[in-house]
Amino acid sequence: MQSDELKEYNIELELQKRQLDEANQLKSAFLANMSHELRTPLNSVIALSGVLHRRLKNSIPEDEYSYLGIIEKNGKQLLSLINDILDLSRIEAGKEELNFSEFSLFSLVQNILDSVHPISFQKGITLTNSISTLMPAIISDSAKCHHILQNIISNAIKFTEVGSIEISALRTNDYFRIIIRDTGIGIAPEHLPFIFDEFRQADDKASRRYGGTGLGLAIAKKYTLMLNGEIEVESQPGLGSVFTVILPAVPSGVLISKPGNEFPAATKSSDAATSHFDAHQKTILLVEDSEPQIIQLTEILKTEGYNIRVARNGKEALESVKMVIPDAMILDLMMPEVDGFEVLRSTRNLKETRKIPVLILSAKHVTKQELSFLYENNIHQLIQKGDISRSELLSNIRNMVTTPPKETTGNKEERPIRLPKPGKAHILHIEDNPDNLASVKALLANNFVVTDAPDGPRGLQIAREFVPDLILLDISLPGMDGLTVFNELRKDNRLQNVPIIALTARAMKGDRENLLEHGFDGYISKPIDNDIFEKQINEWLYGK
Ligand code: ADP
Repeated sequence: MQSDELKEYNIELELQKRQLDEANQLKSAFLANMSHELRTPLNSVIALSGVLHRRLKNSIPEDEYSYLGIIEKNGKQLLSLINDILDLSRIEAGKEELNFSEFSLFSLVQNILDSVHPISFQKGITLTNSISTLMPAIISDSAKCHHILQNIISNAIKFTEVGSIEISALRTNDYFRIIIRDTGIGIAPEHLPFIFDEFRQADDKASRRYGGTGLGLAIAKKYTLMLNGEIEVESQPGLGSVFTVILPAVPSGVLISKPGNEFPAATKSSDAATSHFDAHQKTILLVEDSEPQIIQLTEILKTEGYNIRVARNGKEALESVKMVIPDAMILDLMMPEVDGFEVLRSTRNLKETRKIPVLILSAKHVTKQELSFLYENNIHQLIQKGDISRSELLSNIRNMVTTPPKETTGNKEERPIRLPKPGKAHILHIEDNPDNLASVKALLANNFVVTDAPDGPRGLQIAREFVPDLILLDISLPGMDGLTVFNELRKDNRLQNVPIIALTARAMKGDRENLLEHGFDGYISKPIDNDIFEKQINEWLYGK
């Protein structure tokens, strides 16, 4: 009987464990998907308090003026906490991606030291980069390495009151060892095993004094493990700490991104300041749906003298560039209906607007696939929303409007502008539900020739035979699904420029983005909105 009871108990435990794992996974997925929603309201707080902080100097009582500084500072702290939590949940949800390239450790560390220099200077701590400039390049994920080292170096500065911080590196046969040595407060031996745990801080009293969330090292450790490396630490209370990040010199079996595939580092003001330049003659198109962000950016750009045009959604942006071709465009990615990706795609497809320099400003976590889309479309810079540095933004804009525009590097053919052909345009509708086929036909039959295909293979056959002017494609097809049909269609040279529109009952958040990311030219959710359906079809066919 006892053995039976034990068995039952074990089954129960196993079940509970599974439920817990599932709940945890769901929580992580939820957070990972919520990044945009969490960051957006905070952006507004930071953006507007920053604007008021600059505008109201000397015009309101000093103590009230100081409140604005406090709101801005706390907003930024909250944003960095949210960013940490989101990073962690993305790792746990398995959504974090690696992007390998070859880079110099000396430059990476120097970049970090330059950014933290003001804080160490204020504390009177010396920072030394002892890595040899002759050290061979490492092949790893530079953004992750930047994150790991930035975190450890920032901790070293935070927990050091007097003395110095030195960063050195050694190359063994297979590994790089990057050593960060500080002369700070050190860590007691009993706390040492726990400092990489989430939300763990070695000493409560000290952490209250120094601030922080206890997430920094947990994330650094997880990133290092993802890169097949590890972090070691030695420390003596009162004397200092030594953190060693060990990374494989060449990770096995990875695809290395092409050189030049990295975004240029934030430009320094001096780069652009060398040439004669008059901001008054330059027009910037700001494509952004968040009012606080518009106020903040307009304020920053106006003080420099730029002419600013604002488009509050993607559609307005496309209208605007038809009237005035701007010298540069600042583009938000997440906007309702026509989003930033679509605006970029459309402007790059037209000869007149193809070369407009574009700076992407986004609250969204940009995936590897999205990033490669942005690279292909030759964006100038990607800036995360929130803690926008005024000087960095201005020097980037200045750089954009003074550098001769480059051609897009993407291998996509330029989509020709279509003119209405004599006769009716031919639309192929691939859909398994006969009622849907009938209703789309009823809606479009007056002005278009509509051919039906009840499944993927027949759709492909008709498309290859007749080369339609536009394809409406259901995603949830039985047998060969819509995404596979799409891939097959695009393999055919003659079908590469035919707009393919996803027609789907999936209305989950992110579906639209995923489909556009996959390469669809548009997306219509079912039930179809009769009033705008034909108009949308015309826009995809003729761009009007
Ligand atoms: P926090 O946000 O508190 O800095 P971390 O995960 O980065 O969180 O670090 C966890 C804890 O490890 C810190 O609270 C601190 O107690 C300890 N710690 C990390 N780096 C150092 C260092 N260089 N010197 C002393 N203590 C450190």
